[in-house]
Amino acid sequence: MKNYSHRSRTLITGGAGFLGSHLSERLLKDGQDIICLDNFFTGTKDNIASLLNHPQFELMRHDVTFPLYVEVDEIYNLACPASPIHYQFDPVQTTKTSVHGAINMLGLAKRTKAKIFQASTSEVYGDPEIHPQPESYWGKVNPIGTRSCYDEGKRCAETLFFDYRRQHNLSIKVARIFNTYGPRMHPNDGRVVSNFIVQALRNEPITLYGDGTQTRSFCYVDDLIEGFVRLMHSDEAITGPVNLGNPSEFTMLELAEKILNLTGSKSKPIYKPLPQDDPRQRQPDITLAKKELGWTPKVSLEDGLKETIAYFRKLLNG
Ligand code: NAD
Ligand code: UDP
Repeated sequence: MKNYSHRSRTLITGGAGFLGSHLSERLLKDGQDIICLDNFFTGTKDNIASLLNHPQFELMRHDVTFPLYVEVDEIYNLACPASPIHYQFDPVQTTKTSVHGAINMLGLAKRTKAKIFQASTSEVYGDPEIHPQPESYWGKVNPIGTRSCYDEGKRCAETLFFDYRRQHNLSIKVARIFNTYGPRMHPNDGRVVSNFIVQALRNEPITLYGDGTQTRSFCYVDDLIEGFVRLMHSDEAITGPVNLGNPSEFTMLELAEKILNLTGSKSKPIYKPLPQDDPRQRQPDITLAKKELGWTPKVSLEDGLKETIAYFRKLLNG
């Protein structure tokens, strides 16, 4: 259907979640009309409370596993629970969300000739044999484990995106997202950044799994969203998959120390067993994103943590 407005009509699935709410905010600032779609499984209206009265913002309660008929120019497909606690709650629904959700959104993109972005994940690399992982690495994924509903669901979604491009010439953009943090993360999703901050603010013990020498790289949400927008607006020939994440690596001990300093907490670390299959190291290779999108993360861990701590402080006091 013809768009009589000069503004781009953008659908964000999973728009009331952590990343979706930041993306909604950013695209409204850029002057786009937003349809924010969510079934509120892990997302909340609180995340988008400040946007609800914006004239260019529309909230829609819908589950992506069911067909959707709207007229749009661009689709960001983010709907899917992202942390193990959430995606293992109903694993069959998690796979349906990734696979049926992708089919429905790709079908919508085909009918409306919309450009479509997929929020894929570093988990498509599984338990990788090479570090850091370039996009050309095919991964090492267990197809029948308890994480498979997420990992294989996201892998199948990538397959669907590339088959829709080959078969129907769709304009696709696939981002492989690495650990991201920031305000509006879930306080109870078990991720290390939210766990440590909540524990520090409550002066409770900081739970270090293993000896705390395993490393991770954390990307601040604003940097990631800039990467999303650059990828969406890149040349038609750029489809991804492209890694988006921050390559600066820290041990969990260093992370705990930083959070204790920034919160002024009296918490002390306690050591707990390392979960099964916990990777020693995870770091994105962002050579491709630098080259094709001119993108590098800018926010330091310290600055990003300050913003995140301020958010959780308010949440816990509120
Ligand atoms: P989130 O849980 O905060 O957001 C996901 C949103 O999708 C929620 O609002 C949830 O209610 C919604 N949703 C779930 N199932 C749905 C369904 N069937 N229909 C409609 N809405 C549904 O998680 P997030 O961190 O914002 O992640 C967003 C996307 O980015 C996900 O696809 C995730 O896999 C991907 N990702 C995130 C990270 C990260 O570090 N945050 C890393 C890799 C990939
Ligand atoms: N971790 C920890 N304490 C916690 C939560 C996590 O030491 O309270 C560790 C976990 O074992 C892992 C790292 O922090 O080595 C990152 O965990 P997270 O679940 O945030 O992300 P992922 O393992 O998916 O990268």
